[in-house]
Amino acid sequence: MTFRLYNTLTRRKEAFEPREPGKVGMYVCGVTVYDYCHVGHARCYIAFDVMQRVIRKLGYDLTYVRNFTDVDDKIIKRANERGVAVNELTDRYIAAFHEDLDRLDCQRPDKEPRVTGHIEEIVALVEQILARGHAYVVDSEFGGQDVFFSIDSFPGYGKLSGRRVEDNQAFASDRVSDDPRKQHPADFALWKAAKPDEPSWDSPWGVGRPGWHIECSAMSMHQLGTTFDIHGGGADLVFPHHENEIAQSEAATHSPFCRYWLHNGFVTIDSEKMAKSLGNFFTIRDVLATYHPQALRYFLLTTHYQHGINFSDKALEESTRRVLSVYEKLAAADEVLGRRAAVATGAEPEVVTTARAQILEALADDFHTPRALAALSEPIRALSVALHKPKVAANLAIVRSVRALFVEVGELLGVFQHRPVDIADAILDGIRLRLFPVGSERLAEIETMVEERVAARSARDWAKADELRGRLAACGVEIRDGADGTTWRPLVGEVDGAIEGS
Ligand SMILES: [Zn+2]
Repeated sequence: MTFRLYNTLTRRKEAFEPREPGKVGMYVCGVTVYDYCHVGHARCYIAFDVMQRVIRKLGYDLTYVRNFTDVDDKIIKRANERGVAVNELTDRYIAAFHEDLDRLDCQRPDKEPRVTGHIEEIVALVEQILARGHAYVVDSEFGGQDVFFSIDSFPGYGKLSGRRVEDNQAFASDRVSDDPRKQHPADFALWKAAKPDEPSWDSPWGVGRPGWHIECSAMSMHQLGTTFDIHGGGADLVFPHHENEIAQSEAATHSPFCRYWLHNGFVTIDSEKMAKSLGNFFTIRDVLATYHPQALRYFLLTTHYQHGINFSDKALEESTRRVLSVYEKLAAADEVLGRRAAVATGAEPEVVTTARAQILEALADDFHTPRALAALSEPIRALSVALHKPKVAANLAIVRSVRALFVEVGELLGVFQHRPVDIADAILDGIRLRLFPVGSERLAEIETMVEERVAARSARDWAKADELRGRLAACGVEIRDGADGTTWRPLVGEVDGAIEGS
């Protein structure tokens, strides 16, 4: 099977060849820890979580590194506003980040370096860039000195983003300042003299702190070597952040920095990018207060990582119902297998073998999660049919094999890997709360009708019981009469078992 990925650097899909056979180093830009993360972050880190799972599944020995930016203007400003120490603020949001991503079933990277733990490597890298004539030192109004990278000194500048150095206009609108001390408007700070009351470190240029871009070069090369395989992040990082990383790293080492550059698309709301700076974001916490983490993760996997994805309640509700439908079928499968495990033998049915091959092929093809999810449709349909007559040996073999397929796929995608009955219950509770909030009139009406129906049934008034069942259905409620009595649940409707991507 060919493992191919889309490389922003070459602007095409390429067969992947690691620098060293069997080994892969991957660095993904992490978060600046001054606030809770939003759904755009979830999209990025879920995409790269699936990638690391797939890369390992394909047999590579992967080292996955993701940093924390724990010193920066925004962090310092927020800490001052709140009157707390910078490290108190950053520790708090690093813990919150882990909590959120753990709930979304993102596995932790092998290494999570922090900037403040790598100042020595950063200073050494800046010295190396200066020694090779790619940077210059200017005096700062705060007493020390700033160091700027000179983009004119690096002929490859612009190769990732496709921008031309001569075209000053191309840089005018970006996050580049018009500092008169700079030789080119897109020159960027490698080291900044400390302002009063900022966290700072000693350096050959006086006390100061690193510029933003240098940290990722220093930490990635420290962890993965001068040249490594994969560098990722959101598409908004292509310029200037990743362009600058390439320039300063290759200027320092005279070796290629990273071979494959992968970028995920934005999450949009009403077609506008979700971003803290635009104020139109939902934190992961906000969303998980309403929707199950598995529904959010599933939703974010229904679009290929490179594409934009539009966030809406409607889409989240739909994902919720699809995920519920699958987990309910898996729960039913577990029940059957729990009773009949010993007799569940036989060869794997073709529907499962085919689906497995399609899923691996889709994921090896630039991590095509929507195609992988779509390939689960047939096995789910086969499971649905088989569950009607689970005592038939051929059906039992299907139940067992499809259930096993979901364990495998769950490990690759991070969905459908939990105990199905627990997740199904939790999702149903969530839907119930959204439709019939506690203390609401709607809930009181439903509960009254359910009681009336129970009474009608004990009085053997079947006509009335049927009429009430109809009225409840019209209110979006399904009644289930079981051995333990009558229960009700939101009418979810048949999602037909299909899992579709886009
Ligand atoms: Zn970075």
